[in-house]
Amino acid sequence: MGPDPLDDLAAAFRGGVARDPEALARAGRDGSHLVGQPSAVATPREVDDVVALVRWARRHRTALVARGAGTSLDGESVPPAGSVVVDLSGWNSVLEVRADERWARVGPGVVNRSLQDALEKEGQFFPPNPGSWTASTIGGHVGTNASGPRSFKYGPTRAWVRGLRAVLGTGEVVRLGSRAAKRSVGPDLLPLIVGSEGTLGIVTEITVGTAPLPGVRRGLIVPLPADPPLGRIAGAMRAAREPGLSAVEYLDAACARDLAERRGVRWPDGAPLLLLELEAEEAASADLVEERLRGVLRSVGVAAEPHRHDDADRLWTERGESSRVLDERYGERIREDVCVPLPAIDSLIGAINEIARRERVPVVVFGHLGEGSLHPNFVVDPAGPAAGRIRAALYAVSLRLGGTISGEHGIGSLKAPYLADELGPGAVRLLRAVKRVCDPDGILNPGKLYPPEPP
Ligand SMILES: Cc1cc2nc3c(=O)[nH]c(=O)nc-3n(C[C@H](O)[C@H](O)[C@H](O)COP(=O)(O)OP(=O)(O)OC[C@H]3O[C@@H](n4cnc5c(N)ncnc54)[C@H](O)[C@@H]3O)c2cc1C
Repeated sequence: MGPDPLDDLAAAFRGGVARDPEALARAGRDGSHLVGQPSAVATPREVDDVVALVRWARRHRTALVARGAGTSLDGESVPPAGSVVVDLSGWNSVLEVRADERWARVGPGVVNRSLQDALEKEGQFFPPNPGSWTASTIGGHVGTNASGPRSFKYGPTRAWVRGLRAVLGTGEVVRLGSRAAKRSVGPDLLPLIVGSEGTLGIVTEITVGTAPLPGVRRGLIVPLPADPPLGRIAGAMRAAREPGLSAVEYLDAACARDLAERRGVRWPDGAPLLLLELEAEEAASADLVEERLRGVLRSVGVAAEPHRHDDADRLWTERGESSRVLDERYGERIREDVCVPLPAIDSLIGAINEIARRERVPVVVFGHLGEGSLHPNFVVDPAGPAAGRIRAALYAVSLRLGGTISGEHGIGSLKAPYLADELGPGAVRLLRAVKRVCDPDGILNPGKLYPPEPP
């Protein structure tokens, strides 16, 4: 037997290497049911250390898996057996905030909430706010192009990354993007990295755009009638072109009931719910926005009195609890993430219920209604055959309706076999070509995103 490549790992770069069972177990999981068995967890200190790590990995043909908080949901950060996890959660400094120019430069391990805290002091905020915002990192958001309730108004992470520094799988350091207001220097390479799930490069610094913090952020919880006309509601909210409306979320009756039963959460019980976020400079303007939106809702048959929630951030934290609440109530399940054009939402909901009926499993649905982005949670063993059938049927329906197999969570290993159904063979070839150039030895997060090569 030859020498263990891990023997010289610690000497190959500056930084820590952990190989104890607890560290390996922690780094082996993400928010999915999958479990990986890495052989080490490396914590580089500087960009040169990441370069050295990549060189070491190329020499030893060992996989590297970049990791932020490990909250992704489709195996994006689950390491293959024998790989080395590159833990970037310690790179958690907000390096520079420029409120005048509306950007901030951060380490990839900065947690979304910490960035919001730092920006708040400067009267700014970072718009993407996934339900995991109290734990997940900006590097992870770049990895999955994460979004959240505020994407209704502000768009996903991709719209807010102005620049980044990454170490490619070749060991080269690239800086992409610019702080200039505009630029015409060929195709933009920056968006290639956003959503690439750590398969093209390891991101070591990010410059994000920021937005001025509104004076008032008000949450509204609106009870909906049973079987609400979701397509009409979403369409009317979008058509209202209300600049003070920043989020349009939906919880079905089962999800709303489960949240309402939770201690410390005061939610209306029994009805499906629409959650809205309004932004304004002062309370009186928020009142006007609220009045206009109530008129829009009445026009689509939603007349119930809304409940006000004065701390919108808390509203999203409580709404983010839905995952934990469903964990407690139902245990194992698959948490899906499809997104369709708004006019197709009711057809999608119908198909989700039909799939659940056919498979005889409960389903709970919540999501970012204003963007047609829904998270059906099917209560089924995620590793069993029914889960596979449900996934295949759901993705086929979403694509048939003109939608996508992932609105925001990413592809990871669970959806990789379905990627070609959405992109087609030409785009998959292009994507593989990009991968080969950035990571010729295939050391960066193998098994994720790209569909398995045909034999
Ligand atoms: C309760 C809960 C709620 C959620 N709600 C939402 C939601 O509303 N919207 C949404 O979009 N997602 C949501 N998610 C999914 C997840 O939180 C997001 O995808 C988030 O962006 C992942 O961040 P992370 O720091 O945990 O990244 P990780 O899971 O550590 O990594 C995610 C991917 O990015 C790569 N990566 C991480 N850091 C780097 C880096 N520095 N360089 C290169 N690649 C890197 C990893 O290799 C991996 O492929 C939710 C998850 C949970 C558990």
